[in-house]
Amino acid sequence: MDGDHDISLSDARERDASDPLSDLRDRFSIPDGELYMDGNSLGLLSEDAEAALDRAVEQWRELGIRGWTDADPDWFTYGERLGERLAPLVGATAEEVVVANSTTVNIHALVGTFYDPDRGEKIVVDSLDFPTDHYAIRAQLRSHGMDPDEALRVVESRDGRTIETEDVLDAIDENVGMVFLPSVLYRSGQLFDIETITDAAHDAGALAGFDLAHSVGVIPHSLSAVGVDFAVWCHYKYLNAGPGAIAGLYVNERHFGTTPALAGWWGNDKATQFDMELTYDPAHSAGAFQVGTIPILSAAPLDGALDIVEDAGGVGALREKSLELTDFLIELVDERLPECEVGTPRDHDARGGHVAVEHDEAYRISLALKERGVIVDYRVPNVVRIAPSPAYIGFEDVYRTVEHLREILDGSEYEEFERRSAGVT
Ligand SMILES: *Cc1c(COP(=O)(O)O)cnc(C)c1O
Repeated sequence: MDGDHDISLSDARERDASDPLSDLRDRFSIPDGELYMDGNSLGLLSEDAEAALDRAVEQWRELGIRGWTDADPDWFTYGERLGERLAPLVGATAEEVVVANSTTVNIHALVGTFYDPDRGEKIVVDSLDFPTDHYAIRAQLRSHGMDPDEALRVVESRDGRTIETEDVLDAIDENVGMVFLPSVLYRSGQLFDIETITDAAHDAGALAGFDLAHSVGVIPHSLSAVGVDFAVWCHYKYLNAGPGAIAGLYVNERHFGTTPALAGWWGNDKATQFDMELTYDPAHSAGAFQVGTIPILSAAPLDGALDIVEDAGGVGALREKSLELTDFLIELVDERLPECEVGTPRDHDARGGHVAVEHDEAYRISLALKERGVIVDYRVPNVVRIAPSPAYIGFEDVYRTVEHLREILDGSEYEEFERRSAGVT
């Protein structure tokens, strides 16, 4: 006990002491004295990621052009090899996963390939999506000769935080050719029911695609078993592969052989790529959706970062700790911050890896937190987004974050900061 509270600092410390993943933290560079609660925006550097990057630089220095074949691991098949390492994280076969491009480009590549107005003119999305997804989908609709205002069917939120599965299912009918949704909403942290939505899409003759940016590396997926048609994600959030790291994509094997909308030589069958024929011979795998030469220096850190996931015992173990951390955070907010609301679903089946703490002064509170060395994100209009990454954040960190929030609110410390003006992140 600690004053009127049920949860104490020593409870947090005990939980850290019995956390089987607590040692992973020592492999990360945590900015000095900071509580880094922003691992879902930009994950931190690990010594593993740094070593893999150093190795790629060293092999470039030593081998020059020969690195494509003679580097260890060779650069020519680096994207496919990383796909193979990523496959268990998303529940797919090695051939169904590859790294390529950025997430936004992968949305263009896959929506552009799989959208077919003859299957159904409408694409179902939701009103709380990350904006880039809508920009890319609208652009793809235009390039297919459609009016995006007509063809985009946007499922609205009832409460401004979450999307009801029932409302998604109601939006899927015979006019729908594609459903494209996130796994986890970037603001509230709601986790969607991927299986139910995929089944409903398939029942209506539509394809189901997902953006896993806020779940890959922190939530296990079973894309193949569920039969998801395609998915995209980035590696710089929970997977800690560095700013602008190469992104990932999955294409279900039933779609192998479909000609990619964004064809490029790096998607050619590896066996014939260097025959340099002017007719494109797409790889019979997700590898076909690569476009140009793999950026080795933005792929190498991922190779190291994946060691962390494997040493944790897989993404299931990270998910288990992540849920314990977010449960702990929610309990503390309930207990100590009555003026704040938790905007994230409490049900484990509906929660991603972060927690949205809502307050009318969220913007200025997030500035006050940063001033105290607590790194969080603000998201319009009223969300302080707190992401305790299970790879390097512990229970004491969560406890201290809430203590900082309590002190900021008690002292109205946020009043020292300017109100937000338009155009400021
Ligand atoms: C982070 C994120 C992206 C980022 O896309 P980039 O092309 O890497 O800039 C896209 N979609 C969602 C849902 C995200 O959370």
